Amino acid sequence: PAERVGEDSSSIWVDLSALASENNAVNLGQGFPDGPAPKFVTDQLKNVSKHPDLTCAHQYTSGFGHPKLVKELCKWYSYLYQQQVDAKTNILVTVGAYHALYYSFHAWINEGDEVIIIEPAFDCYAPQIKLAGGVPVSIVMNFPDGGTDASQFTVDFEKMESSITEKTKMIVINNPHNPTGKLFSRMELLKIADIAQKYDLIVVADEVYEFHCWGVHKLVRFASLPGMFTRTISIGSAGKIFSITGWKLGWTIGPQHLLAPLKSIHQNCTYACSTPTQLAVAMAFEMEWATFHVKPHKSYLGGYLPEELVKKSKKLQKMLVKAGFAPILPQAGYFMLANYTRLNTAFKTSEETEELDDYAFTKWLCTEKKLAVIPLTAFFANNEDKMRNTSFVRFCFFKKDKTLNDGKKIMKNLS
Ligand code: PMP
Ligand code: GLN
Repeated sequence: PAERVGEDSSSIWVDLSALASENNAVNLGQGFPDGPAPKFVTDQLKNVSKHPDLTCAHQYTSGFGHPKLVKELCKWYSYLYQQQVDAKTNILVTVGAYHALYYSFHAWINEGDEVIIIEPAFDCYAPQIKLAGGVPVSIVMNFPDGGTDASQFTVDFEKMESSITEKTKMIVINNPHNPTGKLFSRMELLKIADIAQKYDLIVVADEVYEFHCWGVHKLVRFASLPGMFTRTISIGSAGKIFSITGWKLGWTIGPQHLLAPLKSIHQNCTYACSTPTQLAVAMAFEMEWATFHVKPHKSYLGGYLPEELVKKSKKLQKMLVKAGFAPILPQAGYFMLANYTRLNTAFKTSEETEELDDYAFTKWLCTEKKLAVIPLTAFFANNEDKMRNTSFVRFCFFKKDKTLNDGKKIMKNLS
């Protein structure tokens, strides 16, 4: 294989999904909702399929995005950023947020360029940056021993600033944050904005969980901060927004000069994304807009979704505490970390293997107890940082009640 592909062929999602299905395990690990997708969304796909003769629904569509979807994204993000988003220049529809990230790195990173990532971080950032020839520079968040709330994850901004060299090109932020459940505050984001401005850096703002916020926790979109639209590539995902992760539809929003090279890659690598799903997502957005922008609390994204998330996160938190885990309460998103080291179980770490403790625990839990979760160390790039963070596993609480209840039964019987 090409040298840039590297030798590490492992992926937590590939490995854990296989292990979970081999063991027929209850899956509270991988981040996808396992209940029915919202009917008003799937109905749109049905509507598209009812019209097989519609050329605009079943053939290639405009390369950078189906005009109907682009129009909706313009309307939504102009409103959400309070900044005019232009259909021709500011939007590129991609195969999920994964491709949006891939293009962003490949379009802007030269060999040896450094990219700051805030760890723990979604696990594809570091490998994608390396594949593009870049060097990921990890800024590990601080978290107090015994902390119980995701807001206690904090970034040392002085450390971030002092990590900047003449090779630093970009900062990647993920807000709401996977895997911690942290929601970065306006103050924190303004500090990142200052650094980006001072050192002329591009910001990649992965905001795929942008509607997964509840209660007092309100997302500040990075591109909406003063002066930041011009240096930010924002990334969204229909898979996350409408709980349809299998549709694999995402996008980047940004200024023309930042998106132009992403479009160059896209037109030769993908050309155009799947037309029926773009059309169905456009129609779902159109329907949702009618309520969202007048009575958000009555809409799916502003009402139903956050209410479900609060209920489910509370349910999982209760279950975890009862079972002896020490959970960290999330502020947003659909993940919850929990310390497993005080559990009274038959699980024993072994000195003899080189396996990290959280991986060993995850495997034991999946094979012996039939419960799948994700080890936190999967979200660190460097070995030393992995070694320091072996006490937590990540749960996804956006699962149907049956799955959560099945998980609860298993947790009652962990010893
Ligand atoms: N970014 C983050 C933080 C994620 O959790 C995910 C989930 N897979 C993605 C990007 C990729 O999203 P998509 O499924 O739209 O490719
Ligand atoms: N983003 C999801 C998670 O963090 C799923 C990622 C994947 O399955 N590749 O669980």
